[in-house]
Formats: sequence, structure tokens, C-alpha cells
Amino acid sequence: MANKTFKRIGVLTSGGDAPGMNAAVRAVVISAVFKGIEVMGIYEGYKGLIENDMKLLSSRDVSNIINHGGTILFSNRCDKFKTPEGLQIAVENCRKNGIDGIVCIGGDGTFRGATDLSRLGIPCIGIPGTIDNDISATDYTIGYDTAKNTVIEMVDRLRDTCESHDRCNVVEVMGRNAGYIAVECGIATGAIAVAIKEIPFDKEEFIDRMQKLTKLGKRNFIVIASEGMGGDFTENLTKEIQSRTGIESKFARLAHVQRGGCPTCTDRVIATLMGKKAVDLLTEGKYNLVVCYNNGKICDVEMEYAFMLDKIVKGKATEEEIASLAPDVREKMMIDAENIKEHMNSLYEIAHIMAR
Ligand code: ADP
Repeated sequence: MANKTFKRIGVLTSGGDAPGMNAAVRAVVISAVFKGIEVMGIYEGYKGLIENDMKLLSSRDVSNIINHGGTILFSNRCDKFKTPEGLQIAVENCRKNGIDGIVCIGGDGTFRGATDLSRLGIPCIGIPGTIDNDISATDYTIGYDTAKNTVIEMVDRLRDTCESHDRCNVVEVMGRNAGYIAVECGIATGAIAVAIKEIPFDKEEFIDRMQKLTKLGKRNFIVIASEGMGGDFTENLTKEIQSRTGIESKFARLAHVQRGGCPTCTDRVIATLMGKKAVDLLTEGKYNLVVCYNNGKICDVEMEYAFMLDKIVKGKATEEEIASLAPDVREKMMIDAENIKEHMNSLYEIAHIMAR
């Protein structure tokens, strides 16, 4: 049934693209149309909202997209949207186009934009779309599974040639400041070591272990480093391994290849569930929420909670900010943050236990 207050909603993809975004767009369109609501596809994220670049999407328009990487709505980064004038133009264009609410698919930056719009009377729901899995409020972000599978396919290939040539390959993977792709792919590819920003890298222990394994006859060495290590960490580590162990060492940066490709089944299914949930939330009159996937279930979390939890996990929250939280919220956030850190620590430990 059509909801009286929602005649037309918008959908946009913003920030870094991720495989599975199309599946989410498709689910938003099909779920809304089923409820008798029109959907305006907004192009290039918030840029399209400011430049009035949008068009109505029918279910036919989202046919044959669930299987494709990238995003049919394209993505962009739009600094003008962050200014009061840009935001005002975006709100006016929503009003002009009869947009009653927006589903914003993207990462942390996208959600900040969604919060600004919600505050100015355009209800928004966020869907986490980023390969980095770096949104603390959700166990899973759309694109993460596909990116990991792309990485392991590439690394398996490198490992084959490492074995033939008695070589080491240091591979830099994406994830921005989050080490999830690195650590899970380290486990999945049998890497000898993983270097991530969250946990100090014990280079001496690693070199020592590599030398011992060489004596035992191991000929292939994969090291996975997260881009969060920054600067020339990966290149420098490659050179140091070669000079200290005598094992020929090569460097590989997988870069944007990790962002493309057909989404995996997991990404398609979770994106579909999230897209439908976002429409349900909007039509229930809810807004300023992030759709999440936690403990195997689709749920929703308040944007403000998601932002603060991220800050706490990343050690960026001030004592005043933490003290200003309601006691029950603070307690829940601290437990959530602790669980997230423990999960990463245990993945990291397992990756290194398996590399002996
Ligand atoms: P992601 O959503 O993947 O984190 P970005 O950080 O690039 O990617 O954000 C995507 C877009 O969201 C930006 O280009 C901008 O238009 C908007 N945005 C980002 N940060 C903010 C902010 N603090 N306030 C309002 N809008 C923002």
C-alpha cells in the first residue's frame, strides 16, 4: 500500500563505490514501487542533488544490474555539498522534485551528509556501502565480501609464482585505515604476516620466523599490508625483507581492482535486504538511521550512535564527548567498542598463529 506521506523518494550512491551498490539500488526501487512510491535516481551522489541531475527509475531500469559491479547511479565526492549554500541548494532541489526522503548508500562521509539533510527536513536512511568494512556500527558493509574474494584470487596467483621462484611478495590491500580486508585475506591466503594500522607490527619476530621457515624448506611467502600503514611502508618492507633474508621480494599494490567486479552472492543478498529495510524504515516515518547487519540480522542504528561508536573505536572521542553520553548509551557503546577491538585482535592473532 502506498504510504500517504511518501509519494516519491530518492536514492543515491556516494563516496567510494563498492560491488553490490547496484543490488541495493535495485532493492530500493523494487521495494518502493511495490509500495506505490516513486523513486528518483540521483546521479553522482550529492553532486546530482545540487546539480539537479536525477531521473525517475522504474523497475525496468534496475533490471540486469544486480550482477554488475560499480553503480548505475555513478558516484562522486562533492565538497560543495558540505557548505551551507550547497546543502541549501540540495534541500531546495529535493522540494522542487517532490522528494520526500532519500536512501543514501555510501560510507561515513555519506552518512554525515544524510544527517545534514535529515536535520533540514529531508528524512534520510543510510546504507553502508564500502569495501573497507570500516563502519563500526555494522558487522558488514556492502562490497566487503567481493573485495576480499578479489584479493584472495590475486594473491593466490602471486603465491603460485612465489613457490616456483622461491620468492616473497608483499601485497598492499585497500581498507583505508581499517585492517579488515588485510587480516581476513591474510588468513584466507595463508600469508606469513599481516600488517595493519590497528596493531603494532613486530618486524623482528616476522623476519626471524621467515628465516626459520626458509630453513624448513618453505619457498613461498606472502605478506599482506593494509594501505592504512601509510607512506612507503609496503615498498620499504619489501626492500628490507630482501636485504635481511636474501629472499627475492616483490611489491604489489592491488589498488582499485579491489573495487570492481561482479558482486558475490553475500554482497547481493545483504545489499538486497538492506535496500528493502531502508524503504521500510522511511515509510514507517523513521529517519537518520543506518541500516546494519549485526549478529546475522538486518537492523538499524541511529546515525549519531554510529558516528560516536566509530570515534570511540578509532580513539578519536574526547573525554568530554564520552562523559556527555547518557549512562546506558555510554555503557553499550563501550561494550560494542571493546567487542570490535577484541574481534580484530583475535583475527590478527589467528592470522599469525597459522603462519608458523
Ligand atoms: P564515504 O561516504 O565513502 O565515506 P566521502 O567521505 O568521500 O565517502 O563522502 C562522500 C560525500 O559525502 C562527500 O563528497 C560529501 O559530499 C559528503 N560528505 C562527506 N563528509 C561530509 C560531512 N562532514 N558533512 C556533510 N557531507 C559530507
